[in-house]
Amino acid sequence: MFRQHPHQMSGIKAANHGRYCKIQAANKQVSYAKSYLCSMFFIDTHTHLYLNQFDADRGQVVHRALDAGISAMLLPNIDTDSIRPMLDLCTAFPGQCFPMIGLHPTSVGDDFEQQLATMEVELSKGYAIAIGEIGIDLYWEQKFKDEQINALRTQLSWALEYDLPVAIHTREAFPLILEEVEKAQNGKLRGVFHCFSGSSEEAERAVALGFYLGIGGVITYKKTSLPDAIAKVPLDRILLETDSPFLPPTPHRGKRNESVYLLEIATRLAEIKNLSISKIAEITSKNATQLFNLPFE
Ligand SMILES: [Zn+2]
Repeated sequence: MFRQHPHQMSGIKAANHGRYCKIQAANKQVSYAKSYLCSMFFIDTHTHLYLNQFDADRGQVVHRALDAGISAMLLPNIDTDSIRPMLDLCTAFPGQCFPMIGLHPTSVGDDFEQQLATMEVELSKGYAIAIGEIGIDLYWEQKFKDEQINALRTQLSWALEYDLPVAIHTREAFPLILEEVEKAQNGKLRGVFHCFSGSSEEAERAVALGFYLGIGGVITYKKTSLPDAIAKVPLDRILLETDSPFLPPTPHRGKRNESVYLLEIATRLAEIKNLSISKIAEITSKNATQLFNLPFE
């Protein structure tokens, strides 16, 4: 579906063709760049392009990503207010932007039951590709810890009921979240630990649970133990993501993140895994297509 030959490229795409070659050059794969170009595409499995940080130039941001070969962008929901802008973006880019439905742990408060009721109505409409993002976040505050756990349990049970994958957010709570996922795992629960930044033991446990690890901008940072943590994780358990507008990769730190920067993450992962960027594209896109049941070949 995304196969595109160089002679079909627009001026912008041709310019990005040059960008690919530069990335390939960084990976010493220059001679293969052209032959891989036709089939190479990426999927940003976690990007919040509907947030107001993109209000001024949202269309350009999406086109920049598409033109660079990021052919699909998966949008995790946050709360009841974010549903409408998220769906508007999916309507504007059908087959390229895909919606999830879920209540983010930092949005869990006194009203979480009402918010969950709205989420369930949306889920029953059948458009969501996943339940997300959900999880536990004890970094910002612990006040609603019990409510966060309750909301997580409810949403994990929806994943089984609706036969959908989950996108899990966790901060300062990895042991707790693993315990919850382990309890809910009946052999059918599947999903991704988005923005994985745990230890090698945690990576091993997550993979043993049948889950994928979402690798984002953190992998490009100088001070990170993430390369060691994922050293033994096979590529067929890894997804790429930006978490835009948050966590921009090097060399864009301090700026707004956007989906086109997925290429920096893919390039760094290629170095770490000692593989070509086209292999990274091929396997991670296949993983994402399978997990989220995306309509691509
Ligand atoms: Zn997110």
